[in-house]
Amino acid sequence: MSLETLYSQASIQCYPVKISAEIDEKMRQDHPVARLPLRDGFQLYSCSMSETLLESQTIDISGVLYAGRKSTVYAGVCNYGGKPLEIALKFAKIEQNRPEVEAYNKLFVLQGKTIPKLYGMLCSDEVGDNVINCLILERFGKPLDLPFCFLPREDLAQILDHVKAIHALGVRHDDFAERNVLVDSDGQYRITDLTLLPHKDEKCGWTYVFKDHVDPKYEDINTEAESSHCEEINSLASSMGFWDRGWLSLNRGAYFVRKDEVPGMPPQYIINNITELRLNICPEYTADDFEALTILFYQEVQKLMATHGQTVEQIKRDKNLIAYSLHKPYMKMFFKDTPFRPTLVPTSDGCNWVYHIEDGYEELLQLLNERLEERNQLGL
Ligand SMILES: [Zn+2]
Repeated sequence: MSLETLYSQASIQCYPVKISAEIDEKMRQDHPVARLPLRDGFQLYSCSMSETLLESQTIDISGVLYAGRKSTVYAGVCNYGGKPLEIALKFAKIEQNRPEVEAYNKLFVLQGKTIPKLYGMLCSDEVGDNVINCLILERFGKPLDLPFCFLPREDLAQILDHVKAIHALGVRHDDFAERNVLVDSDGQYRITDLTLLPHKDEKCGWTYVFKDHVDPKYEDINTEAESSHCEEINSLASSMGFWDRGWLSLNRGAYFVRKDEVPGMPPQYIINNITELRLNICPEYTADDFEALTILFYQEVQKLMATHGQTVEQIKRDKNLIAYSLHKPYMKMFFKDTPFRPTLVPTSDGCNWVYHIEDGYEELLQLLNERLEERNQLGL
């Protein structure tokens, strides 16, 4: 279709795309999809598949949010009702964007709450393979950069209730993963990268509301959930760790302990956040000692967080020092006649370890003893 033909059609509006030279260069070099002939002043037009909520205008592209094999998402700013609006522009082939628009249309009532708001779909006037398609979406938060198992229960509940809402409208997510979950600075979540996949059973039978079951007393019981019917949500919630059935997994499954048998432990997501413990610093230890020390470590973590108000970040920073502080009393209790001579000591910033044959070991050992003494006096 020629430009003249497009302009002669009253329903077609033109959106010139303005790209800064820097972004233009970056797009061309880094992102295969952007190698499409996108250039400053490039014009896109409303596409009949979705109503465009924006006035015809120039859209400024200011950065790259995501670059993948099949699509590139740019940050942009446009004018919406007289005010600047931050948007995400997803450029992809039409085959890629079409099912996504269908999903957005079907999930219209969830837009701006559970999924980002869709402001429209634009197309270039090229033909065949060169056609550029662009979804204009609300720019919301950032993709989740933590595994689901690192998130508190409240956050998992919010995400899972979003999945429930999507299923309730007969849509399933084709590729549910952390990268397709957006989170903003207020801890609000939205699901993105949707593809229209019909729900297997047409109508999802899931009735369990996750946010009503955030209290830890619901962690190990799943009876109500089990009476809900959707295999997909059930297995998603299980794999995300919403239910633990009374067990805690330590050191990524190296040990499992029953919560009712081992009191004073932190929640599973805190344990997941603090990994890579180094406990093999005394040659006398056996496998049982490692397990006992692992449990002692997490009980200490729970004490520091619950009683002394320490944050996960503080604990992660000090984990080597916290772990180290357990050995001397442990040796005293279980290896009465053996003097405490660790083969490894943490550096004073707690970030590294020094072997007993390395320079500086004796000084560190001395320093650590003094620091542990200070911690004892502070009641830590
Ligand atoms: Zn379902």
